[in-house]
Amino acid sequence: MKTTMLEVDNLATGYGAVQALKGVSLHVDRGEIVTLIGANGAGKSTLLMSICGDPRARSGRIMLDGEDITAKPTHEIMRSGVAQSPEGRRIFPRMSVLENLVLGAQAAGQDPAQQLPRVFDLFPRLRERQSQRGGTLSGGEQQMLAIGRALMSRPRLLLLDEPSLGLAPLISRQIFATIRDLNEREGLTVLLVEQNANQALRLAHRGYVLVTGRITMSGSGAELLARPEIRDAYLGGG
Ligand code: ATP
Repeated sequence: MKTTMLEVDNLATGYGAVQALKGVSLHVDRGEIVTLIGANGAGKSTLLMSICGDPRARSGRIMLDGEDITAKPTHEIMRSGVAQSPEGRRIFPRMSVLENLVLGAQAAGQDPAQQLPRVFDLFPRLRERQSQRGGTLSGGEQQMLAIGRALMSRPRLLLLDEPSLGLAPLISRQIFATIRDLNEREGLTVLLVEQNANQALRLAHRGYVLVTGRITMSGSGAELLARPEIRDAYLGGG
């Protein structure tokens, strides 16, 4: 039976005079991978950040497993089991890989020693490079570290902002394969934002299209991939 994990209802938020989200409604069921696609500036990152409490909702509601988290501070939302791997990776560049990972667990009140073996098994490269400074990792390795750090908090909901940004196609496919694996093996629920609509919609069970702060379309990944208007706007007409 499907249970809704995340429910975003008519969410509006922004920055000063900028209205980035103008009444967004979507849901993510337990065990689902859901992708949000949209052009630059559509509000995709804002939506993920707003689920984590920053920027705060100006109106609307965000529910996690039936609990209203709209007004909760970010650290409490993280402790409720939401982890975000932000765009641009935002790892701590001067800290080692290991220190970055340990912080990911501690931020959510998890025991790092329990989570580390699992994350190292998923990303063996991080085990090899554990004493290297985060900032000296390659782009793909930093992305692995950002996702690994999010997983250290043992989230029930993983929010991923552009995991393939700036990565070579092979590395990007590996990252997508890892996300699929986590979903299939551990039932991890994922809300993913991507410019790479093709790969993301293939990976996702369902998707939403965000256009200047509003959802304009939704459907299964396959349905959205087949739509001519999606192909023209987000798949390079291919
Ligand atoms: P991209 O794919 O380019 O990352 P996006 O869909 O993630 O875009 P957002 O980053 O959510 O879009 O931005 C939505 C709107 O909010 C844009 O018009 C952007 O300029 C604006 N915006 C984002 N962050 C801020 C901020 N800190 N201050 C002011 N405006 C902001």
